Amino acid sequence: MRFGFVTLFPELIAPYFEASILGRAKKNGLIETDYYNPRDYTTNKHLKVDHTQAGGGAGQVMFAQPLDDLLTEVREEDPDVHIIFPLPAAKPFVQSDAKRLAGKTHVLFVSGRYEGIDERVIERHADELFSIGDYVLTGGELPSLVMCDAISRNIPGVLGNEDSLTEESFETHLLEAPTFTKPENYKGSLIIKEYLKGNHAKIHALKRKLALKKTQYFRPDLYQKANIKDSEEKK
Ligand code: SAM
Repeated sequence: MRFGFVTLFPELIAPYFEASILGRAKKNGLIETDYYNPRDYTTNKHLKVDHTQAGGGAGQVMFAQPLDDLLTEVREEDPDVHIIFPLPAAKPFVQSDAKRLAGKTHVLFVSGRYEGIDERVIERHADELFSIGDYVLTGGELPSLVMCDAISRNIPGVLGNEDSLTEESFETHLLEAPTFTKPENYKGSLIIKEYLKGNHAKIHALKRKLALKKTQYFRPDLYQKANIKDSEEKK
């Protein structure tokens, strides 16, 4: 899978692919990363990429021209590219999006800065718009990395153990049950006894019960969507 990042600050993104799971995925050729800087596409003599807002208002807005030329070029080179704009004013990015997008061959993220991007670029080029949460960040680099990471985990071969994917939070709309590792007794705090008895059917049933409780407590909105049997009593 090819991931492209359109950004004025590629140095904020590139180090993330030098370590851990995504570093290994890149070394193994499972993912590739490309960077495009809108500044390299400006045609104005001062190489400016932003200007004051039309109609007034605080802050600068990124010009249409450099981004439009850049995105036109990328689309011409690969008509299958899927262009995503991270924006606070968009639908939330969720796990099912991460899974679906892992099936694409080329995803390109366009990071805004300042007060954002001239709306006409978004209208001309966006395949999808996503928000990563109800707060405003200074730029689209972190949202792009967040989405890229979540998508990459779902590309076959990226995770060492693919079973991790099926037991994780948000699968079947439930949050994951608590997890533990050695030692059994940490500063007087014990691992749930049932987890240590080796009866996998019982452990599975207990984890399901704990996942239901956790979801009901922290995310009642997800709990309502979960497929819960009558015997597990949906409230
Ligand atoms: N003026 C914009 C608004 O009120 O919607 C906010 C612009 S923000 C300071 C600059 C850029 O950061 C955006 O263009 C977008 O790329 C990115 N961004 C900030 N918060 C985000 C979020 N919650 N989700 C996705 N992208 C975000």
